[in-house]
Amino acid sequence: MLSPWLTDWRGKYHGRAAAMLSPATTEEAAAVVHLCAEAGAAIVPQGGNSGMVGGATPDASGDQLLLSTRRLNRIRSLDAAAGFAVAEAGVILENFHNAVLEQGLRFPLTLGGKGSATIGGLVSTNAGGTQVLRHGTMRALVAGIEAVLPDGSLFDGLAPLKKDNRGYDLKQLLCGAEGTLGIVTAACLRLVPAAEDRCTAWIGLESPDKALLLLRQLDAAIGPPLEGFEIVPHGCLDAVLRHIPQTRHPLNAPHPWYALVELAGDKADDLPALLETQLAIALQNGLIDDVVIAKNDRESDDFWRLRDSISEAERAEGPAIQHDVSVPVDRMPRFIADNPARLAAAFPGARALSFGHLGDGNVHHHVQPPADSDGPAWLAAHGEDASRLIYRHVIELGGSISAEHGIGQMKRDIFAELDSPARLAALRAIKAGLDPAGLFNPGKLIA
Ligand SMILES: Cc1cc2nc3c(=O)[nH]c(=O)nc-3n(C[C@H](O)[C@H](O)[C@H](O)COP(=O)(O)OP(=O)(O)OC[C@H]3O[C@@H](n4cnc5c(N)ncnc54)[C@H](O)[C@@H]3O)c2cc1C
Repeated sequence: MLSPWLTDWRGKYHGRAAAMLSPATTEEAAAVVHLCAEAGAAIVPQGGNSGMVGGATPDASGDQLLLSTRRLNRIRSLDAAAGFAVAEAGVILENFHNAVLEQGLRFPLTLGGKGSATIGGLVSTNAGGTQVLRHGTMRALVAGIEAVLPDGSLFDGLAPLKKDNRGYDLKQLLCGAEGTLGIVTAACLRLVPAAEDRCTAWIGLESPDKALLLLRQLDAAIGPPLEGFEIVPHGCLDAVLRHIPQTRHPLNAPHPWYALVELAGDKADDLPALLETQLAIALQNGLIDDVVIAKNDRESDDFWRLRDSISEAERAEGPAIQHDVSVPVDRMPRFIADNPARLAAAFPGARALSFGHLGDGNVHHHVQPPADSDGPAWLAAHGEDASRLIYRHVIELGGSISAEHGIGQMKRDIFAELDSPARLAALRAIKAGLDPAGLFNPGKLIA
């Protein structure tokens, strides 16, 4: 009966659980955590189970308890004038989007898993997505947090204080904590006015270098209305067209790379004119080779569907190892260009694809086994070493081995191996201070 919640979204991790607890209120969550603390029972918090690093999957012992937030699903308040809403942890992102839109507002964070991902999960993974360029990651959108700490005590930090200098910022500590420091039960989230208009373009171009130059041009000429800038190699688009029904190539001919660009703002900004002018300049200067601008919302949604379906299409392609990495934006084209060659030199035949949030210096870098190999056997034999090579490259460039998905169980060991002793010691000290018995999400994030 529990089986759907015992495997992660990618189907990589399978666990067992003694039971699933589903509190419907913060008080119930606190009572349950208190009882677990007394009994020494380990808890694995779970929201929509759409995480990418096995963070919400229990271990194989069968002793751990899943704590699902799915019944904590109320939007407690929405202050349209102030631009804040308080949502409980189990509210699904897409439902939250729709609810605030009814009040003429927008929650400016979205991602491909929006139909499953919950507010608590998004906070706990400090999720990013496709609007970070303008609005930041979840951290920037969290104005307050309510959480049950590992001893069962309630931390009420929901008030959206502009100024609060009472030492360490506990709400920020809980952002990205991956359920290792307690249960987030609700968050106060920043909203922005609903965009009156948006303008989306699908662009064919030669390389990530040119994409970065285009990003710089648009940033300088357009500024804040520039909200999304994603890059997609032809290989990823091709996989989407093959595996995802009712998708079609937006341009007449294939290009090595594509950029998906979106502006959002007021009607008075005349976004189509802004974007057309800049893209005409880019065409003239040879930065881009072809472009189509969405004529309406449906076409914009179709472009985004191509981008948002990449993970699903890649999953249908067969086994691969995924790397969610960041480097300073200016170094990203170098990482994308150099990495396949480094990989091929060490692992002949292995194929590498990078796609995603160029504007944030963050790509998802997938490595597929050689076409003529037994995929799972190849990954079992070489996957870890291939990942190590990629992560070392990322660190050489001053980057992070986890840009937006977190560490979970997938990257726990490599994080401990490659990251700085100072960071790891500080994280361990924080964990030991707040959860001395190690009952919250054991085996995740830090060893
Ligand atoms: C198709 C697809 C596309 C995606 N695209 C992106 C993307 O662009 N950017 C991005 O950042 N992520 C992306 N993700 C990953 C995922 O959606 C996010 O990590 C999301 O934040 C997970 O939310 P969730 O509710 O499913 O959390 P879960 O998967 O249930 O849990 C994730 C982690 O948070 C902990 N947790 C969950 N709820 C709580 C809580 N209330 N209190 C404490 N800890 C908790 C869990 O223990 C676990 O460690 C994508 C996922 C999919 C399936």
